[in-house]
Amino acid sequence: MNTISPFSSYFSVPIQEILTFHEVTLCMKREDLIHSGISGNKFWKLYHNIENYRLKHPSNPFIITFGGAFSNHIVATAYAGKIANIPTLGIIRGEELEANFTENPSLALASSLGMKFQFVSREAYRDKKNIEKGWMAHYPDAIIIPEGGTNLAAVEGIKNMLNTSTKDFDYLCTAVGTGGTVSGLSKYAEEHQKILGFQVVEDPSIVQVIHDLSGRDNVQLFTTEPKGYGKFDEKLIAFINEFYQKYQIPLDPIYTGKMMMKLFQLIENDYFVPKTKILAFHTGGIQGVLGANQLLKKKKKLTIDFNPLQI
Ligand SMILES: *Cc1c(COP(=O)(O)O)cnc(C)c1O
Repeated sequence: MNTISPFSSYFSVPIQEILTFHEVTLCMKREDLIHSGISGNKFWKLYHNIENYRLKHPSNPFIITFGGAFSNHIVATAYAGKIANIPTLGIIRGEELEANFTENPSLALASSLGMKFQFVSREAYRDKKNIEKGWMAHYPDAIIIPEGGTNLAAVEGIKNMLNTSTKDFDYLCTAVGTGGTVSGLSKYAEEHQKILGFQVVEDPSIVQVIHDLSGRDNVQLFTTEPKGYGKFDEKLIAFINEFYQKYQIPLDPIYTGKMMMKLFQLIENDYFVPKTKILAFHTGGIQGVLGANQLLKKKKKLTIDFNPLQI
């Protein structure tokens, strides 16, 4: 197998200044520009998992992972598998999705990137060990990557989001789901930097996750509004539309939109002292706009007014 990493061209993305307000400067690092269909942080979380695996020269390489219907992790795994030239299988929660998965934008995208699926009931999905056992009998050399992709190798991959140009910022900000990304920023940040994590679901266990994966005490967590994974309201959608018009940066409604809205509120409320330099990581997730718009349209609500496939 090739020793030159197929991922090597993805290392450099720009930092873009957003605004200076109340003497506080806010910039975004555009990990979303790695690929419009995949979440930058998910890509980095997969990076060492797949590189370590690839360099072990498995005779019959195969990637197995898990996710829900709109999972950014599923799409990112499909993409990473495609560029590493390793077949991928997604175990998808919800057997009812099988009949028309091509109408689900995330699954359609993953499928077009070469991923194969196994659709399982919610009950069967809970017993992941049993599903794994079945597949490992056929693919003993396969790698199994956990749902959401958070593990120690993932945390190490997040280090690639930090470089000399991120060192001067006082705060590093990221949206938080399973906690892998915020743990990586925490672990590899400079001594003087504080990490702000914006949780999109209320999940008290994240404190322990960060403790276990990072071992440092430099993270402050916030919960974003409206609370809950995949919960949108009109205020959030209007914020995302306005943000796009003003800065030409597309945000997703599940993670980055919620983080930026909360961050704007913190700046307005003088949470930060003057001269503070803040760096927010745009972790991507833009493919999620398609699924969100499908849902919003059905409910006759305000939709996101950019097309993620045309930017
Ligand atoms: C998954 C995801 C996150 C959260 O990452 P975790 O490591 O699970 O906390 C943030 N932003 C986007 C766009 C994501 O897809």
